[in-house]
Amino acid sequence: MLLTGQCAGAHDWMKSSPILAGILEDSGRFVVDAVITPPAGADMSGFAPDWSGYDVVVMDYDGDDWPDATREAFAAFVSGGGGLVSFHATDNAFPEWKPFLEMTGVGGWRGRDETWGPKLTWKDGRTVTYDTPGNHWHPRKHDFLIVTREPEHPVMRGLPESWMHACDELYAGLRGPAENVTVLATAVADPAQNDRSKGENEPMLMAIDYGKGRVFHTTLGHVGRSDQEPIRSVRCVGFITTFKRGTEWAASGEVTLPIPDDFPTADQPSIRDPAE
Ligand SMILES: [Zn+2]
Repeated sequence: MLLTGQCAGAHDWMKSSPILAGILEDSGRFVVDAVITPPAGADMSGFAPDWSGYDVVVMDYDGDDWPDATREAFAAFVSGGGGLVSFHATDNAFPEWKPFLEMTGVGGWRGRDETWGPKLTWKDGRTVTYDTPGNHWHPRKHDFLIVTREPEHPVMRGLPESWMHACDELYAGLRGPAENVTVLATAVADPAQNDRSKGENEPMLMAIDYGKGRVFHTTLGHVGRSDQEPIRSVRCVGFITTFKRGTEWAASGEVTLPIPDDFPTADQPSIRDPAE
């Protein structure tokens, strides 16, 4: 299930969601049903998807709250063994819904501050939480290096030690309960270019245990209202590969999808232009 229909702020789900569906369907491993919420401000009382029958819910959503019963059913679906993928600003969603914060591990914006919990990083060979002043931010979109931190995790197995991701927002300073999270890959906002950066290893890809459920959290994939194809953040072969492998892992616990030959190197991003 690709669950979408609202994106607050700068994002455009009508552009991003078909791209995500295409990546998943082109892999041959998924059949995708899009579930679209009512639009922002509309009556949400009848929004109650049937989660049963789905292995994984991919969320491209940052919008109005859902009814209590829908929230409870969703949390029960994931904790009962369902998969969830949180895509880019989905981690901004539902700042007051505690189970959702636990599912996504960390998030930003929508009023979040230090009371939401610690920050998350990779230090001395492991995932750790820490706290410093300041909250969520990101530099302007740019190419940046992503470093693999858990090479034996099914999502990461076979990926290079580092690779150049194309033209994206590097989410930094996210906060949350940050419990039961394994940081799979990180990136650093260059302190020489960003006054706000302390050079921390920011989590880019995460795996989260929520009850019996598996959550794959990618902070990558900014798609803005004025972006035109090829939208490099989501046409990056590094994004495409980790997104579909992460979705497969969330759905099944295993990964069979291969690393493609055009995967980016540490020096060179790699883009697939849908027009070519
Ligand atoms: Zn964004």
